[in-house]
Amino acid sequence: MRRFNFIRDPAPGSGGNNVEEFLRWLDGPTCFFFSGEDPGRTRALVTLLHGNEPSGAMALWRWLRSGRRPAVNVVCIVASVVAALAPPLFSHRMLPRARDLNRCFRPPFHDAQGELAQEILEILRLHRPEAVVDMHNTSGSGPSFGVCTHMDRQHDALVSFFTQRLIVSNLGLGALMEISESSVPTVTVEVGGRLDEQAHELAWEGLCRYFEAASVLDPPPADWGLELLRDPIRLELNDKVTLTYAEQPSASFDITLRADIEHHNFGTVGADTLLGWAAGPERSLFSARDAAGRCAVSRLVRIENGELYPARPLRLFMITNNAAIAESDCLFYAVADDGRAIS
Ligand SMILES: [Zn+2]
Repeated sequence: MRRFNFIRDPAPGSGGNNVEEFLRWLDGPTCFFFSGEDPGRTRALVTLLHGNEPSGAMALWRWLRSGRRPAVNVVCIVASVVAALAPPLFSHRMLPRARDLNRCFRPPFHDAQGELAQEILEILRLHRPEAVVDMHNTSGSGPSFGVCTHMDRQHDALVSFFTQRLIVSNLGLGALMEISESSVPTVTVEVGGRLDEQAHELAWEGLCRYFEAASVLDPPPADWGLELLRDPIRLELNDKVTLTYAEQPSASFDITLRADIEHHNFGTVGADTLLGWAAGPERSLFSARDAAGRCAVSRLVRIENGELYPARPLRLFMITNNAAIAESDCLFYAVADDGRAIS
C-alpha cells in the first residue's frame, strides 16, 4: 500500500508552478503540517478524498505559494493523489476497481482504500485538531453547501467560513465526517462543481478564512442565516438497472433521465416536473430508505405512462448527470420542498 508522505512547514513557493506539478511533487497521499502563530492549537483540512475533485488541492497549492502563516497549526491531508494523477488529470474519483475512499472510514479496513482511510483517522487522532473540514467538489455544476451529521453553533460557525447552505444528514455511509465527528466537530464542504472556476475561488477564500481565523468554533458575529436541509433521502438504482441521460426516452436503457436534470440542483421540483422516462414499477428500478430504514421510493418518484415524476414537491440536490456515479453512488438527494425531512 501507499504510505503517507509527511511534509512539515514547506518552504514558501515550493510545490511546483501549477497544481499538476504540485501533485507530481507529492507523488502519493500526503500530510502537511503548517506551524501556526499559536502553536498550542491545531485545525485539520482533508481534501482530495476523491481524485476528480480538484478545488481543495488547488487552494492548498496556492496557500503553499503564498507563504502565508496560519493562526494555529494546520494539518492538511491530501489523499487520492494517485487517482488524481491517473490521466487525464483529475478525472478519476478513484482508481478502477477501488472502493470509494469516502465510504471506507469504518471497518473492515481490509483493502488498500480501507488502509488509507484508517491512516487518515490515525493522523487526525494524533494531532487532536479542534475542528476538521473535509473539502469536496460536486461532480455536476452547482452551488456550494456544507454537510454535517448534526447541527449546533460550532458546526454553524465552521460551515459559515465557506457557504450559507447546510445539509444535516447522518446516513451511516462510512464517510470521514461521520466517524471523525465522534471526537471533533467535523463538516464536509462541497465548494461547487469540480470544473467551476467559482468553486476553485471559494475553496481558496474559504481555506484562508479557516486557516487565519483566531477562532473557528464561535458563531459568526453577523448571522448569515444558514439555509438548512434536513435528513435527505438518497434515490439509488437497483442492481443491473441501466441508466442514460438524453432528451427523449432511449429504448435500450431501463431509465432515461433528462439531460438537463442537474439544473434542478437545490431548486424545488413540482409533482408535475418531468424528470425522465422509465417503465415498470418504481420499486423494481429504484431503492431509497428514510432515516427509520423504511422504503421511501414511492414518496420520492412516480412513473406514469412511461414518464418519471417526483411523487410530491421536492427539493433535489447532488443530482448527477454521470451514469457511472449514479450507478455506484446515487441519482440525487431529496428533502421536502420546505427543507425538512420527507415524512
Ligand atoms: Zn467528493
